[in-house]
This record gives sequence, C-alpha cells and structure tokens, in this order.
Amino acid sequence: MTADTMARPVNLILLGPPGAGKGTQARMLQERFGLVQLSTGDLLRNAVAAGTPAGQQAKAVMDRGDLVSDGIVLQILRDRLADPDCARGVIFDGFPRTLAQAEALDALLASTGRTLDAVLELQVDDAALVKRILNRAEQARAAGQPVRADDNAETLTQRLHAYNAQTAPLIGYYRTRGTLTTIPAMGAIKDIARDLSNLVTRLTKAAGG
Ligand code: AMP
Repeated sequence: MTADTMARPVNLILLGPPGAGKGTQARMLQERFGLVQLSTGDLLRNAVAAGTPAGQQAKAVMDRGDLVSDGIVLQILRDRLADPDCARGVIFDGFPRTLAQAEALDALLASTGRTLDAVLELQVDDAALVKRILNRAEQARAAGQPVRADDNAETLTQRLHAYNAQTAPLIGYYRTRGTLTTIPAMGAIKDIARDLSNLVTRLTKAAGG
C-alpha cells in the first residue's frame, strides 16, 4: 500500500479532444493512485489487432476517424469493467463520447453500486491539437516506434469534427450534474499532472480515503 492508495474506489472521466493528453494523464494517475486506466481506444485497438468480430467492424470506422457504434463500445467497456481490478476505481479515458454512452454509463455504474466522482475536462486550444498529434506521430516514427494509423492530418480533421459534434455536448451534460471540473491543459505535462493529482487527492479525502 502506498500513501496514495485509496480507501474507497474513485471513478473519474477524463474528457477532452484528441491530443488533449488524456492518455498521458490517465497513465500518470493510474501510477500514482492505483486506479485503472480504461481507454476504449486501447480496448478497440486490441480488438482490431486480435481480429475479433467487434474489432473487424471497428477497424474501418477508426481508420476514417469516426466514432465506433455505441453498441460495440458499450459491450467492450462492460466486459472490461467486470474485471476484478476495476473495483479499485477507474479512469475512463476516451469514454463516454456520445450522450447515449454517458447515459449508459450512468445506468451501468448505478447497477453495479458505483459512483461517478468527477469529470475532468482537459481544455486545449483547437489549433494546438493538430500540432501535438502530428508531433506525437513524428516522434514515434523517429524513435522507430509504431505510429497510430489514425494519427495523420486527414483522419485527425475527422476525429476533431466527431469530437465537436458528438462529444463536446457532454461538457454541458456533466456541468448540469455538477460533476464537471475544467482544467486548463495547454501547459507542461507535469504541471497538468500536478493539478490533476491535487484534485484527485481532494476527492479521495472527501471520499474518506
Ligand atoms: P482514442 O484512442 O481515444 O483517440 O480513440 C481512437 C478511435 O477509437 C476513435 O477515433 C474512435 O474511432 C474509436 N473510439 C474510442 N473510444 C470510443 C468511444 N467511446 N466511442 C466511439 N468510438 C470510440
């Protein structure tokens, strides 16, 4: 047990457009607080790589930067959430992405006796996103690492469009419920990580951890 290990599971959503740093920050929170990073993008990429029926259906949709159907995403998410490690608390990364997914998540959490403790919105300038993602691809390429198939200028435009059309309305959804906290996320990774850690520490204290 570390000093940061929590007494009660805390469930968080990291919300923000592609390139906002959700994956990086989720991994850091996972490391520090022992929460499980649950990235639907990673789960879908695993399904594609494994050639499962869901993966086969998702591949073309992901390659063009559109959203995979709620049915496929919810099935994959439900299966993962049932794994015992998720009882420690979860950081939803890249989920929910539609209002229907948000409503399904509310129902899923309620049915399993869990709570949603906070929705943390990473706020970045639109113009910075494209640059960040193309840099990420460039750095991976230079290091001889695999580059995500959807990290290219063309697909990225569609991913941003999908975010603005289908996911951005979730900001209002969670603001109305009083669970939204907006974090400016244009600065250094470590500064954003510090702000997020402070917030999560406060949440765990509020939760009696
Ligand atoms: P990400 O790794 O979160 O950037 O997701 C990569 C791609 O996977 C997205 O562009 C979508 O095609 C798909 N995807 C990931 N999560 C979801 C979701 N919650 N709903 C629909 N599609 C998703």
